[in-house]
Amino acid sequence: MSAPLTRDRPLEREAGSGAASGRNVFRFREGVSRRWRPAPALTATAAAHAGALLAFAAAPAAWPWLAAALAANHGTLLAASLSPRSQLLGANRVRLPEAAARRGEVALTFDDGPDSELTPRVLDLLDAHGAKASFFCIGERAAAQPGLVREIAARGHSVESHGQRHSAAFASYGPWRLMRDVEAAQDAIAGACGVAPRFFRAPFGTRNPMLDPTLSRLGLHYVSWTRRGYDTVDRRAPRVLRRLTAGLRAGDILLLHDGELGHARSVLAVLPGVLAALAERGLRGVSLRAACGDEPSA
Ligand SMILES: [Zn+2]
Repeated sequence: MSAPLTRDRPLEREAGSGAASGRNVFRFREGVSRRWRPAPALTATAAAHAGALLAFAAAPAAWPWLAAALAANHGTLLAASLSPRSQLLGANRVRLPEAAARRGEVALTFDDGPDSELTPRVLDLLDAHGAKASFFCIGERAAAQPGLVREIAARGHSVESHGQRHSAAFASYGPWRLMRDVEAAQDAIAGACGVAPRFFRAPFGTRNPMLDPTLSRLGLHYVSWTRRGYDTVDRRAPRVLRRLTAGLRAGDILLLHDGELGHARSVLAVLPGVLAALAERGLRGVSLRAACGDEPSA
């Protein structure tokens, strides 16, 4: 069953290399790609390298200073990469658009699934409270359990991308490996539920400085979160719940996990409290697609 999602992306199934390899290949056209504009930090990095090269040509003896300047530049990029909510490496949605906030919406997002045990129980909890959410699935897991991905979409949630392999080395991938990983996840998820992801969140929230051109080409938008509960590392549900709900307000994006990568079982203990907190405040849990509409990018 195809997903009842807004702005579904038409898919074209291609014969060719994919068919030859026994795998479905999807290509996403229909103008979903957008022009890539380098973030200011990347423009500054390119300028710093060009400037250092010219300075070295003019005054080779200055190389220790030039090396120090470039090291500082790379240190800044690394810090940005390790700061999940940073805007330095490109647009990064950390809250919903104002229009969604005015409607009293909160985006519930779940990373690391699908998981055969956790995901169906999370879906049941959401159904019981009439809430919708976005599931940032890992491509390999989606390919292994396509029925579960279809189920997520069929129940009115959006299926988004968390990369293909969830590698801890994602932030240090070169451009080609990066592109292959993100494309493979698009193929796996679209192949499972018939709808290509529209949003991307990097594994561990560590953003590769070269990620943006790939996202632009595939029409993906980067999203992180407003609040996270650390449900993969903290098994004390009351503390996780407090992190997610203290100061909770319309327009927030909440991060939880429905995969077992980090032993995320506390999601089952925490989610009912999150949904109750939303109801108490008159807020509504929605998917990112529903909330962002025509404003997917931050
Ligand atoms: Zn993850």
